[in-house]
This record gives sequence, C-alpha cells and structure tokens, in this order.
Amino acid sequence: MNIGLVAHDAKKKLMQNFCIAYRGILSKHELYATGTTGRSIEEVTNLSIHKFLPGPLGGEQQLGAQIEHNNIDLLIFLRDPMNAQSHEPNVHEIVKLCDMHNIPIATNLATAELLIKALDRGDLEWREFYK
Ligand code: PGA
Repeated sequence: MNIGLVAHDAKKKLMQNFCIAYRGILSKHELYATGTTGRSIEEVTNLSIHKFLPGPLGGEQQLGAQIEHNNIDLLIFLRDPMNAQSHEPNVHEIVKLCDMHNIPIATNLATAELLIKALDRGDLEWREFYK
C-alpha cells in the first residue's frame, strides 16, 4: 500500500518517533512524504521514502495530486492545531481530497496508531479493489 506522511514543524519529532516505533510495518509499504518530513524520517530510520517538494513549496499539491489519482491508500498528517500555518488552505484541501476519495486519514497520533495497526492486520485490503 502507499502511505502518505506529512508533519507540520511542531509535529516532526512526533512523526520521527512514530516512524521509529512502527518502522517494521512501514517498511513493508511504499512511503510518500512532503520534503522536509521525508528527510527528517530518513534521518532517524533506514526507511526509504519518495519525497515531494517541501509542503509549503508545492509538496502538498503534489501529495494532493497523488490522492486525486488514487495513489495514496492511507494518509498520516500530523498537523499542528495550535499554530496557524501560512499554507493553511493546503491542509483543508488535503483533508477535502481524502474525504472526496474516501482515503483513511489520521491527523493525530492516536488515530495514526489505530490506522497503522489496522493496515498491518489487513483491514485496508479493500483499497486494492479500488485500483
Ligand atoms: P514539509 O511540509 O514536510 O516539507 O515540512 C509539511 C507541511 O506541509 O507543512
């Protein structure tokens, strides 16, 4: 499956720790991330990641295009709810695209853990029928 990973700056450390904790599961899948998130994960794991441009510089649009092309099966977007992002409209666009295309999306750690465990159990295999 293709997993999208994005973390706002305040959540990058959390994303790193999430990827360290679940690297055994993540390594069985194709990983896509916005540029800086991808690099920060690669710094602490040996996961190989397809990196888009940095999020605010077009990476979120690249991710959005992949969602529209049905190329992302699950998205973990650890957004920072406390600080308004200069590229806030992109966040809404990504969430909207996931809702339009029925893509499971986690925006916080609790849901991210549920989704990654569900993925590993095979609960997302229905996605294969949508390809
Ligand atoms: P980044 O983008 O991974 O390049 O920092 C994240 C974001 O869109 O804020």
